[in-house]
Amino acid sequence: MMKHDVLVLGAGMVGVSCALHLQQRGLDVALLDRRNPGEETSYGNAGIIQREAVHPYRFPRELSTLLSVAGNRRLDVRYHARAVPALLSPLLRYYRNSADAAYQPIAAAYASLIALSLETHESLLADANAQHLLGKRGWLMLFRSDKRRDEAFADADKLTALGVNHCKLDGAQLQAQEPALRERLSGAIHWTDPLTVRDPGDLVKAYARLLFQRGATELRGDATTLRPLPDGGWQVQTASGEWVSARQVVVALGPWSTQLTGDFGFRPPLFVKRGYHQHFRDDSPHPLQHWMLDEERGYLLAPMARGVRITTGAELTHIDAPATPTQLSAVEPVARSLVSLGSAVEPQPWKGARPCLPDMKPLIGAVPGKPGMWCAFGHGHQGFTLGPATGMLLAQLMTGERSAIEMAPFSPARRF
Ligand SMILES: Cc1cc2nc3c(=O)[nH]c(=O)nc-3n(C[C@H](O)[C@H](O)[C@H](O)COP(=O)(O)OP(=O)(O)OC[C@H]3O[C@@H](n4cnc5c(N)ncnc54)[C@H](O)[C@@H]3O)c2cc1C
Repeated sequence: MMKHDVLVLGAGMVGVSCALHLQQRGLDVALLDRRNPGEETSYGNAGIIQREAVHPYRFPRELSTLLSVAGNRRLDVRYHARAVPALLSPLLRYYRNSADAAYQPIAAAYASLIALSLETHESLLADANAQHLLGKRGWLMLFRSDKRRDEAFADADKLTALGVNHCKLDGAQLQAQEPALRERLSGAIHWTDPLTVRDPGDLVKAYARLLFQRGATELRGDATTLRPLPDGGWQVQTASGEWVSARQVVVALGPWSTQLTGDFGFRPPLFVKRGYHQHFRDDSPHPLQHWMLDEERGYLLAPMARGVRITTGAELTHIDAPATPTQLSAVEPVARSLVSLGSAVEPQPWKGARPCLPDMKPLIGAVPGKPGMWCAFGHGHQGFTLGPATGMLLAQLMTGERSAIEMAPFSPARRF
């Protein structure tokens, strides 16, 4: 007899959401993590439920941008030279997938997934009584130059047809909307649909509490102890030494996912874009009201529960490489001249890793050739946004329901 119907491995936003949706369909679920829920990538992100992110981040294609990335002095993207040999193959595929012809169907599939993000969060938010963690002011994409502002304004108009709403602000309107700004900028796009979360880790914990109150089992342990059972099904060992079995298993280990699936011969080309954050005390007479991306400098400011969180762009490196928060130290003075920031809250910055795939889409579905093994990982820049949508779609696939959107573009069996 199997102890549970499904073992979900990984208690980040994605794993907790998968567990909730499987449970809603009547399955007995156990959720395993080596830590408490929501303490890794799903804690350290910028906390935006990004309804506007219908177009995933492309690899740059223009020669001037490629040269400046290669020079390794940009604020938004950097790389560790030692990681380059291992990154060459996934980055080359990422580059190819970012060409117009390859990118169009990718963006269309991604838009269909992002379109589910708000409604799937909203139903969990209501059930988990977690609305107090939410902000409903949307967020601001800031522009320093008129040229960049006008290009972005034109691009934003094209998203309206995809259900993405925005307001255009000139410099004076921006200043009136966000009095914390100390510099006069050329304008901003105010994305009005997204929700913001003052403590992203707390939201995952609230969803996990709902899951356990409804009867799911919480397990602590190392997912890499997972073993197939001779007659079908899977078992994993908990930290107390007990073996726990289930008919099916879901791998939702975020950036660590392929460390497990590789043991079973499934090695999609997952790579990470590392990011850093640090909180700073808000000592301004006009406390920061909005989440703001300083788009031309490549960092984000978020007025969170612990202080103003600065999050950085992408650092291309190995997941276990030592921390090198040079992007954070480079943007801190830029941020300080934009808004008034006090001392750092923590002595050291946090580091985490966006789990990315070369075609910019997550893997959601059955692992090829491994009956009873499913995966939900590779959500890159938007896993906090997409956890509940992923959970719903994966649960639909696992229970034979008709899926809310076409799932072939997210198939783990696809080519990259
Ligand atoms: C700086 C930064 C800013 C971001 N901003 C945003 C944003 O504003 N909006 C957005 O949507 N996304 C954002 N993201 C991306 C988002 O945070 C991730 O895509 C998302 O958190 C991934 O969730 P996950 O559940 O897949 O992974 P995780 O949250 O990392 O969860 C994986 C879990 O697996 C567990 N685990 C790993 N290995 C093992 C093991 N061997 N045994 C047991 N447990 C294990 C970990 O402890 C962890 O709890 C940002 C990311 C970064 C780095």
